[in-house]
Amino acid sequence: MADTTFDTSVPRNVETTIAAIATPPGPGGIGIIRISGSQALPILTTMFTPKCGTTGFFSHRLYYGWIKDPQTNQAIDEVMAVYMQAPKTYTREDIVEIQCHGSYLVLQNILSLVISLGATLAEPGEFTKRAFLNGRIDLTQAEAVIELLQAKTREGLGMAMSQLQGRLGAVVGSIRTALITLRAIIEVAIDFPEDDVEIINAQAMGEKLEHDILIPLQELIRAANQGKIFRDGISVIILGHPNVGKSSLLNALLREERAIVTAIPGTTRDTIEEFLDIKGMPVRIIDTAGIRDNAEEVEEMGIVRARKKLAKADLVLLIVDGTQPPGAADTRLYESVGDKKILLVVNKIDLACQDSAVFAEAFPAIPRVFISAKTHEGIADLENNLFALVTGGSHWDPGYTCVPNVRQRTSLEKALTDAKRVAEGLRTDLPPDLLAIELQSALDYLGDITGETTTDDILDLIFDQFCIGK
Ligand code: GDP
Repeated sequence: MADTTFDTSVPRNVETTIAAIATPPGPGGIGIIRISGSQALPILTTMFTPKCGTTGFFSHRLYYGWIKDPQTNQAIDEVMAVYMQAPKTYTREDIVEIQCHGSYLVLQNILSLVISLGATLAEPGEFTKRAFLNGRIDLTQAEAVIELLQAKTREGLGMAMSQLQGRLGAVVGSIRTALITLRAIIEVAIDFPEDDVEIINAQAMGEKLEHDILIPLQELIRAANQGKIFRDGISVIILGHPNVGKSSLLNALLREERAIVTAIPGTTRDTIEEFLDIKGMPVRIIDTAGIRDNAEEVEEMGIVRARKKLAKADLVLLIVDGTQPPGAADTRLYESVGDKKILLVVNKIDLACQDSAVFAEAFPAIPRVFISAKTHEGIADLENNLFALVTGGSHWDPGYTCVPNVRQRTSLEKALTDAKRVAEGLRTDLPPDLLAIELQSALDYLGDITGETTTDDILDLIFDQFCIGK
């Protein structure tokens, strides 16, 4: 069947053949060794004895047999092996994958053998980097692979999938095409200076710039800002005096018994951090040591750390005991929070509580929820309020939309600034050679996103975030 998926003319990196263990450490059903490069097949044929006794390998076919040390003929493991001929592979190079028993020692033994037969140990992300360098994926898709591996919520996974499918690359590509079209017109005007007034139809070009470049750029930047919390998450700190129910609240949110809950004030001596998924938003939640006025020395150390965490938090859950009237100590704690977003959590509503007006009067300026960390009443309401406070009440669902990351957003913003200068230049009859400079600069920033003009330093930074074997 004709290959319609891949362009076979793309140059392959044939210098080194790389290898790595692709599965996580620790015992497992199977473990996988991955080899990529021109020596992948020769290495396989040297160390693998197929049960069917074949001498040749069909591409993309799984073979059963034994890995043996060619020097001693000693069996290392019973495996399944597949050879995938370039370019229909992850890296566009020849790839071999060996599925062995998921034992760390077996994996190490096979990897050592592969290395002794001429492969080099792969660097983190090197397989994906080769896929990018060999033109199979653009840089946005390579970054999507990391995000997919690291996604903490369903929403984060959806955004990564969208990017992996090339949607961001496609939108950025169409903005670049529009910029290139404008630049072509302007270059004609530079070549024929006496006719530039007729060549450059400032109004028509301005409209194209607006519709095909400025608006899509602004939409991508807006999506990046809205999607940031779903991608990067937020940090929430639970503050309150000893025994008000901080640890119980953390457990209620986690729906498991994790933090130690006791009736002795000050049990949580240090900070405890956990991860939550609140409506698709990754939330790092921190239970602090009981902050109080007469803290003992040991607890004081926890308090210092708590204050550091407070400084970095995006939102504070200030928890008070609903059975007690709020006192001066609660007010002091509230005042220590500064100008951070804050949600008052009145706990223990399963017991006889103060009138809600008492809390409205003591903390008039902040939103409040009433909960029982013990019975879990009001926990869903707390999550809704927390989400609304962070998102400003918007119910935006990232779904499978293009949500640029911080690096991509920075380049989009720079490209937008340049494109706005072009718009202004068209209005003020800026000479075409100056317009061309601004257009080229915008093009370069967009090229940084997809990888056309990205420097080696930035590529290294991106691929260093990967694990080995990916
Ligand atoms: P912390 O010191 O603020 O972390 O407080 P804990 O979570 O350790 O709770 C202190 C005590 O209050 C424990 O005995 C909990 O069982 C109790 N407690 C916490 N939340 C509630 C609640 O909503 N209702 C009731 N009745 N007791 C609670």
